[in-house]
Amino acid sequence: MGRALLSQFLSLSNASPRLSTSIISTGRNLKRSATVVPSLFPLFGAADFRCNCTASVPVAEAPGVSPTPIKKRVVSGVQPTGSVHLGNYLGAIKNWIFLQDIYDTLFFIVDLHAITLPYEAPELSKATRSTAALYLACGIDPSKASIFVQSHVRAHVELMWLLSSATPIGWLNRMIQFKEKSRKAGDENVGVALLTYPVLMASDILLYQTDLVPVGEDQKQHLELTRELAERVNYLYGGRKWKKMGGRGGALFKVPEALIPPTGARVMSLTDGLSKMSKSAPSDQSRINLLDPKDVIVNKIKRCKTDSFSGMEFDNPERPECNNLLSIYQLVTSRTKEEVESECRDMNWGTFKTNLTDALVDHLHPIQVRYSEITSDPAYLEQILSEGARKAAEIADTTLNNIYQAMGFLRR
Ligand code: ATP
Ligand code: MG
Repeated sequence: MGRALLSQFLSLSNASPRLSTSIISTGRNLKRSATVVPSLFPLFGAADFRCNCTASVPVAEAPGVSPTPIKKRVVSGVQPTGSVHLGNYLGAIKNWIFLQDIYDTLFFIVDLHAITLPYEAPELSKATRSTAALYLACGIDPSKASIFVQSHVRAHVELMWLLSSATPIGWLNRMIQFKEKSRKAGDENVGVALLTYPVLMASDILLYQTDLVPVGEDQKQHLELTRELAERVNYLYGGRKWKKMGGRGGALFKVPEALIPPTGARVMSLTDGLSKMSKSAPSDQSRINLLDPKDVIVNKIKRCKTDSFSGMEFDNPERPECNNLLSIYQLVTSRTKEEVESECRDMNWGTFKTNLTDALVDHLHPIQVRYSEITSDPAYLEQILSEGARKAAEIADTTLNNIYQAMGFLRR
């Protein structure tokens, strides 16, 4: 089996120099090609998103018809693995609010990813509903974006299986998140799904012929794998081969690009400025959850890790906690880095922590109020999720039918 895969690779790398490059690359392409998209996001001011694409809008080309602008498509999701925290919000959800005005957006709750580590079954549906309600409470607007639950669109799992057959196991073994999480849990406690979950993520993205994927630092490598997989499947089954099978020919999948927010791309833990804030971190003290009440926020900030330097400063590698907390403060107050620098430069930790706590409480309060309103009407949320899944399935099924055809399956 191993030899068969190897010879398949060798023949592929001979036949396609482009693919042979992508087989050995691990995330380098993203860094190399990232550029700045000019001020699309006013609240971020000059600190704009980076993407490795142009900012121009593609145009539908049909003979005799004047070109109609088509919005680029963006997809993203959060796992219902626990409480949504400040990292998820500043690194992902908050940015979606701008994206939904500019792009065709699909935001989903990635419940199928939530079972890749041990979890409490009775909690899964609760966390799924709560995460969906938080999307809305944070400002995701169902009249602009499709909001749905990943497992409600069956094509995600089906495409994953098809993609798995084209995914070299070496690509998955190299994923940093797998290495980190499996090391923590130990081999005997890690399910195969933790290894193959990047293939499901690729399926989530490729099903929708996605143009852009907002990614935090932690997901860059998985997006790179998605890009390489898309190219590989396009090469293996697309183009003329697909046409001969009765298809339209051409690419089966669009190769997506990364959209990387500038500040807040990586919010760090409150107890260790070198580790990412994470839902799955064992200590709740390490994160601010969006639904934390005021007294909990006060307590967490009071007890969070500091240092013994005087004053507050960004970008000192010896002060990761200071940099992290200043960045959080900057984002929740919607100020520029320079404004925060000059305001906080001479503050001591005590004063800064009080200001940060107030800013966090003020920022999160309206979200928490909206969350209570939304969850008090379960039928409203259900209707939004069902409409979102219906719209998503329409797009996903088209891609899935194409790939079944191109891979040679007998059609119903
Ligand atoms: P888990 O620990 O279960 O993996 P998580 O906290 O990493 O949970 P995810 O659901 O995996 O959260 O990620 C959802 C989104 O939030 C992704 O877009 C991811 O890039 C982003 N994200 C997660 N953690 C952070 C963080 N600390 N800073 C910025 N963005 C983050
Ligand atoms: Mg994660």
